Amino acid sequence: MSSFVPVNDPLLNGNEKKYLNECIDTGWISSEGPFIKQFEEAFAARVGRKHAVAVCNGTAALDAAVEAIGIGAGDEVIMPTFTIISCIGQIIRAGATPVLVDSDPLTWNMDVSRIEEKITPRTKAIMVVHIYGLPVDMDPVLALAKKYGLKIIEDAAEMHGQTYRGKPCGSFGDISTFSFYPNKHITTGEGGMIVTDDPELAETCRSLRNLCFQPQKRFVHERLGWNLRMTNLQAALGLAQLERLDEFVKIKREMGQRYTEKLMGASGLQLMPVKMDYAENIYWVFGMVLKDEVPFDAEEAMKRLGSAGVGTRPFFWPMHEQPVLRKMGLFSGESYPVAETIARRGFYIPSGLALTVEQMERVVFEVRKVMVKG
Ligand SMILES: *Cc1c(COP(=O)(O)O)cnc(C)c1O
Repeated sequence: MSSFVPVNDPLLNGNEKKYLNECIDTGWISSEGPFIKQFEEAFAARVGRKHAVAVCNGTAALDAAVEAIGIGAGDEVIMPTFTIISCIGQIIRAGATPVLVDSDPLTWNMDVSRIEEKITPRTKAIMVVHIYGLPVDMDPVLALAKKYGLKIIEDAAEMHGQTYRGKPCGSFGDISTFSFYPNKHITTGEGGMIVTDDPELAETCRSLRNLCFQPQKRFVHERLGWNLRMTNLQAALGLAQLERLDEFVKIKREMGQRYTEKLMGASGLQLMPVKMDYAENIYWVFGMVLKDEVPFDAEEAMKRLGSAGVGTRPFFWPMHEQPVLRKMGLFSGESYPVAETIARRGFYIPSGLALTVEQMERVVFEVRKVMVKG
């Protein structure tokens, strides 16, 4: 048997080395280097936004976005329960209340038909998180935001190169964020980006990123910020990766379609839709959910696949079931059945950009074997 198939391997064989060498040769390695601005401008152009602010990771991008848009004590923010913990941190730290929405059973994104019932006079924003490969159905969300005067914070970490009805993901929020963690479509090792069309919001984010130093009186602060700066080295990687985004999205789509064809016939598996009328899946990861009739859960399936040399990851664990949040007294008595089910019965298989066709064949073979065994 060949070696372990890792769940993610990035592709770094474009201009990455060349640009990194430029950083070393010129001595520009900090956040003051020229690649930062170049990366920000190229990225903003790519998602059709006026401003982009590069930061040190996608979680930091969300923290700064939530702070910049003015979420504070007493505010409510509507968000999916099925997401990564990064989305909720700053909402809670700011003294605001996260208000959760269950998932759509088909796309695993926030069920947009359940948002309106959660809106109260305290609701300040809707945080939209595009999950795994398909965007959230944005039209109903945009209509609600308009009707009730709500801000939209858009987490597009998993949506590099994706569009909703032809418009780039990351262009829908009053403020939108991305991550460049190595398992995203493009990576900087660690990194993130905030994008917006609002010059004031962009300026606030730039200030928050840099400890709210002031241009005139540098060490006199009017606001508490963070050090969220991205380095020139990271931006160099990002620029090289961005040049290949279309190619990477194409690879991911082909991978998703191949997996779908090969696994469609395997009984007991619910796969992601290849497309919706508003978008074609870009397969950030290739996820699957064990149907009700399957007598074991995702943990067992992942254990069996691991023994067979196939890397997997579990799905997100819902926010309302997070011990850390329950201990704070949040979400007590709340239940979101779709998210609870997919969290327990969902997992994803190797889907990194460097995955070979041979590796995929092996993954498919092992997944089918696990499903047959029952
Ligand atoms: C990866 C991810 C993040 C966090 O990004 P980091 O760069 O790892 O901090 C946030 N939101 C979503 C939806 C993600 O997939």
